[in-house]
Amino acid sequence: MTNDEKILIGSHISLKAPDYFLAGAEQAASFNESSFMFYTGAPQNNRRLPTSIMKIKEGTSFCKEHGMDLSTIVVHAPYIINLSNSKNPDVYELGKRFLGSELTRVKDFGLSLLVLHPGSTLGASPEEGIETCASAINEVLDSDNGGVTICLESMAGKGNELGRSLEEISEIVSRIKKQDRIGVCLDTCHLNDAGYDVSDIDSLVKKFDSLIGLDKLKVIHLNDSKNVMGSGKDRHENIGYGTIGFETLSRWAHEKRFSSIPKILETPMVGEKYPYKKEIEMLVSGKYVDGWREKL
Ligand SMILES: [Zn+2]
Repeated sequence: MTNDEKILIGSHISLKAPDYFLAGAEQAASFNESSFMFYTGAPQNNRRLPTSIMKIKEGTSFCKEHGMDLSTIVVHAPYIINLSNSKNPDVYELGKRFLGSELTRVKDFGLSLLVLHPGSTLGASPEEGIETCASAINEVLDSDNGGVTICLESMAGKGNELGRSLEEISEIVSRIKKQDRIGVCLDTCHLNDAGYDVSDIDSLVKKFDSLIGLDKLKVIHLNDSKNVMGSGKDRHENIGYGTIGFETLSRWAHEKRFSSIPKILETPMVGEKYPYKKEIEMLVSGKYVDGWREKL
């Protein structure tokens, strides 16, 4: 980064064979990222390769040499973990087991942040979902002393998704016994789609602080949105091409109160090309290039 102000920013990266964590860190560095996020396996299934083959030692050295602070690198839990439903006990039990093993895997990488979607209530009331989700997290944390923080992500509110409001997130967080093990991930696209005005950072921060406490904000997903505020949709868009727009997203990137929080892009690929290097360059410099996607 050429600015004197160092911005903690990165993107979603896939760990690919044969170099996995090392390859991920190299790719992040090639996009000028100071942090990044990855899944330890496919997001939609529970097959996982042993972490022992994932070049963790080599990746860790690479991160250190390139000024990436391991405490800001994020793992995303797979979507199949659904802890908010009491209707399907098999899914619930699998979710708890899987969350427990993901916590161990994050620890294997020497990392400390795991983003988790609260899940879907499958039609139960939000109150029931909140109880179910919190008790599952408490149960998993009861038998885990690894120190990894579970960061509950705010959701857009599709279908029966739990966590569409800061109030719902706050209700889950407040029920967690090990308070030092629970945090929150805010996604600008999800907030917008859930009906929050993300251009008003002050109001959002104030609301978050009074409901949850700003110290609980651990990760930000920085995405534009394909849909209008309150659409309840959840479709990410490239920076500057959506309804949130570059100016607002650039303010999120530079916001002083978020300076120690990793800001992770999960924007769509542009054909076969990665958008992240260009998006990060624009967000860091604060200068938008009209039509950048067409010129990529
Ligand atoms: Zn997510």
